[in-house]
Amino acid sequence: GTAIVWFRRDLRLEDHPALDAAAAAHERVLPLYVHAPEEEAPWAPGAASRWWLHRSLAALDGALRERGGALHLRRGPSVQALLAVASAANAEAVYWHRLYEPAARVRDAEVEASLRAVGIVTHAHNGALLFEPWEVATGKGEPYRVFTPFWRGARVRLRPAAPSPAAPPRRWATLAGGLPLHAFGLLPRIAWDDGLRAAWRPGEAGAREALRTFCEGALSAYAGQRDRPDRRGTSRLSPHLHFGELSPRQVVRALEDGARRHGRARLGEAVEAYLREIGWREFAHHLLYHFPQTPEANLDASFDAFAWAEPDAETLARWQRGRTGVPIVDAGMRELWTTGWMHNRVRMIVASFLTKNLRLHWRHGARWFWDTLVDADLANNTQGWQWSAGTGADAAPYFRIFNPVAQARKFDPEGAYVRRWIPELAEAPPELLHEPWRDAALLARSGYPPPMVDLKTSRVAALAAWQRMRGR
Ligand code: FAD
Repeated sequence: GTAIVWFRRDLRLEDHPALDAAAAAHERVLPLYVHAPEEEAPWAPGAASRWWLHRSLAALDGALRERGGALHLRRGPSVQALLAVASAANAEAVYWHRLYEPAARVRDAEVEASLRAVGIVTHAHNGALLFEPWEVATGKGEPYRVFTPFWRGARVRLRPAAPSPAAPPRRWATLAGGLPLHAFGLLPRIAWDDGLRAAWRPGEAGAREALRTFCEGALSAYAGQRDRPDRRGTSRLSPHLHFGELSPRQVVRALEDGARRHGRARLGEAVEAYLREIGWREFAHHLLYHFPQTPEANLDASFDAFAWAEPDAETLARWQRGRTGVPIVDAGMRELWTTGWMHNRVRMIVASFLTKNLRLHWRHGARWFWDTLVDADLANNTQGWQWSAGTGADAAPYFRIFNPVAQARKFDPEGAYVRRWIPELAEAPPELLHEPWRDAALLARSGYPPPMVDLKTSRVAALAAWQRMRGR
């Protein structure tokens, strides 16, 4: 008989447990994608994610066609689409990989119940994480709230990845009546995507290429370079991992292979540092699963009493568009706007600036990132914002307010990053680049704005607000 593999955020053909299980147990496999963004509300994919999704779906369909299949496309609601496709294809089972966002979990439970009610078997696999969120727990069987013990507990269970098992032979079923990809309307109507197209190659082949490039290049210096936005020191795998064009298992395997080829001594530290970041991704999913309220609510409820500033459109717009007058902040926001990605160190700096110097609620930042990041991911984004704002698990305490000038001097010491993204300041002398307001003539000449807040007084005001919250 025929089985449906319901593709969601696992847009690859290799290391795909759901596909392998379906192909092993059924004669034919029908690959299906259902477009139902409203089912992910209030976190339906933003504009940059939709751009990526379009290209990744096109790539997956292309790869399937090379193998004699095709990706069948439908519009939601998912329950109705799956029932209709299962009936038209005479399918006896549906396979998928689990998602961990609260809305997706509710939807998937509904789909499962509806399919079972008509006698169709469903199988959910783990295709996105090294460990399911419930597989790692404290001694008392509770979820972790602190990263270090979480990762200690997970790391010892991470066995060297076995070589990828040979996939069972796949015979594809196809079905008439699917939609063309453009019917989903995922691409921008006015072309703002030049920067994205220049920066990225969505799809499984692009993901594998990015992984290879990283393992052969930046990986060996990762531990020392990962905090430097002026270097290409990180993997930029985040959108590929978000859309499941690559599984974390495949990443671990590639790291192991690299370590074996180049010698533990040389790569050991780098591999461990990189695994730790994959560990943060696992931890973020662990938190989202166990604390599903956190995309909206402070994990640390004492912050519910914090006096955030009233947001006004002008203030937010200056932050969003990189016109705050603080060069390292603006460089990051412009990198995000142009390429759909921002370096992790700079994400922390712009988040500290928004939630502390401007004292705006972290949700305003999380929302903007959601629309503009190609790697926008509810688990990682929520965790990143709550960590930066000091409201999360194991967070940087609120009173530790980044000084953006000191951060910039340390992590962009020659100013190459700021000069790249802020051409107005390209001619600024090195000692003024990160604080151009110290020379009024330079500012006037450059057309670059003065800082929208004074770094010192806004820091003092944030600390006072925090003290008031603590004093209640
Ligand atoms: P690398 O350094 O090469 O790391 C490898 C992989 O590990 C990444 O691809 C990512 O999957 C994972 N990873 C690394 N750091 C983290 C982290 N701190 N938390 C969780 N996973 C991590 N990451 C997202 O994928 N999506 C988001 O929406 C997102 N929003 C963020 C918001 C804020 C305010 C902050 C501070 C961080 C956010 N991050 C997010 C985490 C991190 O910034 C990105 O994962 C990283 O910059 C991606 O670049 P890379 O692939 O080159 O990272």
